[in-house]
Amino acid sequence: MGRSQPYFKGQTKTQVEKEVQGILELYQVAEEFSSEYLSDLITEKHYYCSQHRIRPTSFRKEFKPGSGYYFAGYFQDKGWHQVSWKQCIYPRRDEDWIVTALRDAVRPDIVIYKQAHLICERCGQIPSEDVDHVEPEFDVIAKSALKLMTEDDWRAAIFEMDWWSDEPFVLPENNPALQYTLESHKNVTLQAVCKDCHSANARERKSSKNL
Ligand SMILES: [Zn+2]
Repeated sequence: MGRSQPYFKGQTKTQVEKEVQGILELYQVAEEFSSEYLSDLITEKHYYCSQHRIRPTSFRKEFKPGSGYYFAGYFQDKGWHQVSWKQCIYPRRDEDWIVTALRDAVRPDIVIYKQAHLICERCGQIPSEDVDHVEPEFDVIAKSALKLMTEDDWRAAIFEMDWWSDEPFVLPENNPALQYTLESHKNVTLQAVCKDCHSANARERKSSKNL
């Protein structure tokens, strides 16, 4: 959807962003306020709240060290919870939490590999501490995995996430990104390394990419 098309309440994305900023400018950090406009925006457009038809009833900016502020909504039965109004306008499709879930899913492989390689495979001198993805790098796998997710897969993953919880998020078993990652991981080249050798591997990869 282009930025010039109506997106919410007849406004374009750019207009919605301006409108929200205009509302937020009226309030100090920690000052509680309500706004039908913001409640509607989050209920209709927030990736999690829209699927569960959750409606925050009031809002506040929360102190953030440095510049800016956090934005939080008050949710009945749940209390205050940070909620991104920006994501209501520009949803992200490269979420770190998905990549973290993919990393968690291959962790058992990593643990087994490390137990089988107790000494650093690069220097052969000292105990290994990390397991490096030599080929392909994990980020490369994750990037290809994310590309396989359709809008429906995103919706299903988000629907099943527990937005309120701090527990690690787990992808549904039939998620294509998860399946791809587990399958690709069977053929990766791993190397158990000490910290110094891990950094050395990373440096070498970086310089070979810049050639
Ligand atoms: Zn080493």
